[in-house]
This record gives sequence, C-alpha cells and structure tokens, in this order.
Amino acid sequence: GAIATADSLAIIHLKRDLQIPAVLKDHDEDDEGYSEGKVINTRFGSFPHNTMIGLPWGTQVRASKVDTGSRGRRGEAEEKKRKREESVSTEQPNKAPKLDVVEEQDADASTPATVKEEKEAVAAASGFIHLLPPTPENWTSSLPHRTQVVYTPDYSYILHRIRARPGTSLIEAGAGSGSFTHASARAIYNGYTEDFEPPQKKLKTGKVWSFEFHEQRHEKLQKEIQDHGLEGVVQITHRDVCKNGFLVDGKSPLAESVFLDLPAPWLALPHLSRSQPTRFTAEYNDGIPNSKELDEEPFVSPLNPAAPVHICWVDISMVEIAAKRFEIRRDRIGIDNGAQRGLQTTPASVDEALQRLIEVEGTFKNFHENGEKVEGKKNKGSNPNSKEKILESLVEKKVYKEGKLVHRTEPEVKTHTSYLVFAILPQEWTEEDERRAMAQWPVTE
Ligand code: SAM
Repeated sequence: GAIATADSLAIIHLKRDLQIPAVLKDHDEDDEGYSEGKVINTRFGSFPHNTMIGLPWGTQVRASKVDTGSRGRRGEAEEKKRKREESVSTEQPNKAPKLDVVEEQDADASTPATVKEEKEAVAAASGFIHLLPPTPENWTSSLPHRTQVVYTPDYSYILHRIRARPGTSLIEAGAGSGSFTHASARAIYNGYTEDFEPPQKKLKTGKVWSFEFHEQRHEKLQKEIQDHGLEGVVQITHRDVCKNGFLVDGKSPLAESVFLDLPAPWLALPHLSRSQPTRFTAEYNDGIPNSKELDEEPFVSPLNPAAPVHICWVDISMVEIAAKRFEIRRDRIGIDNGAQRGLQTTPASVDEALQRLIEVEGTFKNFHENGEKVEGKKNKGSNPNSKEKILESLVEKKVYKEGKLVHRTEPEVKTHTSYLVFAILPQEWTEEDERRAMAQWPVTE
C-alpha cells in the first residue's frame, strides 16, 4: 500500500549510502533479527517506530528527542565497525557482519544522565530520515550481508541478458545474501502465484528456483523470503548444486534462465545439459571443488589441439559493467571552473560567461544599495545582505535559468563484478521438427 503500516518492512534512508531495513513495530518485542525494536537510534537522532507507522511512504521524518548522547555515540561506533567488516568480503558465516547499525531501545528507559548528554540528544534530534518502501534496489543496498552480493547495475544487465521477464522460470545458485534473488523475483513475477488461477490459461507462472548449500545462509534467506511475502515466487532449496543438480522434489524446474554465482560454475554445468552427461561429475576435496573423469576408457579429445576452440554453446560472450553516476547541474560562473575542470570553454562561451558575471554582480550591487536605502529606513532589523534577500532578487531577475548545463561523473559506483559469462543452450531441434515447421510456414517465392 501507499502507507507504512505496523509490521511492514521499511527502508530507513539516512543518506544515500546508508539505509537500514526495519520491520515497523508498534509494540516492544524481544526479537532477534534486524532493527525490530521500538526505536531506531542513529547518529542523526532517534526514530521511534510509532512516529513512522501510518505515514505515507517517502515521508521525511524528523528525529524525536528520546535518545541519549551516549547511546547515539555507541550506535555510531557500531556503524563504523559494520562498515569496516562489510568492506572485507567474507564467505564464512561466523565472520559475517551484523546488520545492527542501530540499537534497539525502550524509549521510556532512556533518561539523559547529564546536561551534556541532554544537549547532545537535542542536537541529534535535529536530524531526519526518509521512510521508504522496500524495493530490490534499496534492499540490495541495505540487506544484511552474509556474502559478497550482486549490485543493481550488474543484476539489471544480467536479468536483461538472460531474458528474465514475467512468467520466466529462473534458476539461481548460490543464493548467498539474496540480493539477486529479490531482483529476479520482481523480474519474473507476473502477478500470480500458484495459489491463484491466472485468468488467461496461457499466462505462465514465473518462479525463482534458488539454491544455497550453506545451511545458515539458506535458513536466513528462507526467513526473509517469508517475511517479504515472496513464498509463492521464490523457492529456495538447501543443496550443493555441483553435486546434486537442480531438480526440486525430483521434478524439473523447467528453467529458461540460469544465473550461476558460484566459485566454480563449470562444475554445475553438466547438470544443466539437455541429456545425461556421462563424462564429468563434481567432486569435493575439503570444500575445494574439482572435476574428475569418471570414464575408465582413455579420453580422446574431439577438439583440434593445434587450433583455437570456440566452445559450441551458441553465442558465448563476456562483458564488463562499468556503470557511472552522472551529476548534472547548471554552472553559472563558467570561466575558472570550466577551465580548471577541463571543460571546453570556447571564446564565445567565455564572453558569454563574463557577461553573465557582470550582470550577476550588478544585481548584487544594485540590490545592496537600493535594499539598504529602502529597507534600512523601514525596518532596521532586516538585513538586505541576507542570503534569502539576495536569492530573492536573483530569482526575480531569473538568473537561476542562466548558465551552462554541465555534467560530470561521480567517482565510485558500488559494484564488484569483474566479468560475467553468458551462454545460450539452444532448444533441441530434430529433422522431424524442421519438417513440421516447414509444413506450417511454407516458403513461398
Ligand atoms: N548472488 C548472491 C547475492 O546476490 O546475494 C551472492 C552469491 S555468493 C557470491 C555465492 C554463494 O554460493 C555463497 O553463499 C555460497 O555458500 C554458495 N555456494 C557455493 N558453492 C555452492 C554449491 N555448490 N551449491 C550451492 N551453493 C553454493
């Protein structure tokens, strides 16, 4: 819905690179998990869940004065710790960072101990957050990291390349922290789960068939899928896919799209062939995967050892994503800035910029003098030099519309993927299929 209700998952947006997921609770609950307490304490102040429940998504929420300075500082220290831990990618669950950047706290129990703390609490209370509904994008940037995750620029491209769309049956392994899981769930969801009969019989139910062999990660994601109401859309199986493949309860997921985010994806490939693979299987040696020939007979390669080999799955390609964020704004004083940043400043634009500068300066001066004369007499208290007054005057003169539109890229976009490999396994096609197809669509001159 359009409103944040009790027990709904909200994304508390503190600033662009700091978002916290929280299930909004209108009562105290001693629950494990992420930020389900009654109050969210951040360095921007304290935000009792009750002040957020019932607000429309997107609302800016001001901090309440319930925090104490010491608790606020402790929250900040934890946040720093989490950032440090998060920057170290880890595949081990015991090292996985805790999400709790914030502390859970009972509002009534927090009485500022000293005047200093009281002051700090008041200062913190001047902050604000934005209350956002969960989306795959903000879930990706705020989710509890158990592993390295696939970020938005990468999964957008991957989902497009593997043709995930409403109705698609999609296999993903390993599920890890579930970042890709959530994005793919949205991509394949066609509005129906298995519990409902689609109005058009033709409409296929999309589904994400997710696999994860790490027990705790599997459990965690299972719970998140339930909490987020995605049970009909995502089915997660606790499985080593290299050893045991992709059937679920012995049945085929009938997958059309596959995403493998595994240390050794090639070990899972034999299970993704159209007919029984005979030659290779996966074997594990202290958790380090390797492949082993099963055949007793000596292996004779069908490939020419003296020539490069184009592996014959059709259309294999490798890409690198280099997403950039652009900042676009008007640059009113284009001379120095432009030259310094290496922007092209043609003689014409220098003249133009100079002209603008003179105009703007003139506006300031003019306002300054007249403003002082007129306003000074009328009201000694008002300051004509105030920023507001000058801005008012500039707006009147429509100076805000002037200036050159410039853009520059922001230095960093969060992503870690180096290379992605895509391939297509074509549908099997017999001579009989070809004959039937030709009969259906005869070639005419
Ligand atoms: N794509 C995930 C995301 O966006 O959050 C991150 C995946 S993480 C890099 C790789 C995951 O694969 C780990 O959680 C690991 O436990 C799991 N994994 C590795 N080998 C596996 C296997 N043979 N079967 C199932 N899962 C496996």
